[in-house]
Amino acid sequence: MAVVNLINKIKSECKTRSEQEIVLLSCSALGILYIPPFIIYRIITEDWAVAAIDCIVLAIMLAFFRLNYQKGNIPAARVTMSVFLMVACIAVVHIKGLSSIFWYFPAVIVVYYLMPPASAVLISISSAIILSFILFPQTEAIVFASVLVPCTLMNLILYITFNSYRKIEKQLTRLVTLDALTGIGNRRSLTQELANRVMTQRRNFTDISLVMFDLDNFKSINDRYGHLAGDEVLIHLAKVISLNIRAADSLYRYGGEEFVLLLPDTKLSEAADVCENLRKLIETYHFPADVKVTISMGAARQTEGESAVEWLERADAALYKAKQNGRNCVVTSQQETELIDTVSA
Ligand code: GH3
Ligand code: MG
Ligand code: MG
Repeated sequence: MAVVNLINKIKSECKTRSEQEIVLLSCSALGILYIPPFIIYRIITEDWAVAAIDCIVLAIMLAFFRLNYQKGNIPAARVTMSVFLMVACIAVVHIKGLSSIFWYFPAVIVVYYLMPPASAVLISISSAIILSFILFPQTEAIVFASVLVPCTLMNLILYITFNSYRKIEKQLTRLVTLDALTGIGNRRSLTQELANRVMTQRRNFTDISLVMFDLDNFKSINDRYGHLAGDEVLIHLAKVISLNIRAADSLYRYGGEEFVLLLPDTKLSEAADVCENLRKLIETYHFPADVKVTISMGAARQTEGESAVEWLERADAALYKAKQNGRNCVVTSQQETELIDTVSA
């Protein structure tokens, strides 16, 4: 029963975590499971120095697992893990000699997985140099060369492979997450960002507001000035809004002429002020061909425990109300609820 519960817990954890987080947690969990038998063996054989190293490795693995479990995949944890793996390899080779060099090879692969290729090559080559200084005086030249050559080749191959993999990954990420017309985040990246936000909000709830806005009578702009001019309006609008929000805020194209603005650490009243400023900015902005553009906006602050879909729906309902109120205005979800309450009372 306990095993089934554990499996179910692991399954649900996997669903809420990124692939890299799962790999990091699995690596440290494997370390935690594998190291204790070695510690017992070292104690039985009275190999105190290696037993001490194994205990330190175990303690660091436990701390690393805890850090990753609580805080997610943070860069500091990846750097610490990489440096620590190399230091552990150097320490074991220093004590046990050439027979332990084989630990270096899987450890280096993990380093390349965790770090950007340039940092990985720096960490692994520096470790290889230190290892050479340790092994050179105590190893035959031919044996030393037969370790050094594959080690260098492995670093070269890993660097080339991971470098091209990261480049392809970057290009794919751009294609999948950015809107082709405006260059801002698309609906897919909004969905991903909202899922991440909702998850972190469950751990530590803060004020986050979401704004949905839509160009007014955009169809008639297209009809009057042409579809290409309409495209230009969308590009300019995305640029102007992006330049007039904080670095922490993010803008997404939700679809067509509808956009979403995510405002972290922002109360609903503050979001309303931001919206009002942006609305005025667009109203007075000189778009190409002197096209007059206005936007209607709906803002909603996330309530505790609210899902991304429910949150979006409230912002959408507020936007709908703004359209009903005559367009070119801002409605907050609170005002929208009050209006509905007044009507039904
Ligand atoms: P409302 O004020 O009620 O929002 O009216 P509207 O005319 O803006 O809304 P409607 O939904 O009737 O029309 C949206 C128009 O947006 C229709 C569609 O052709 C246009 N549109 C959607 N995506 C694009 C795009 O990428 N480029 C251009 N030029 N037009 C687009
Ligand atoms: Mg519209
Ligand atoms: Mg629309």
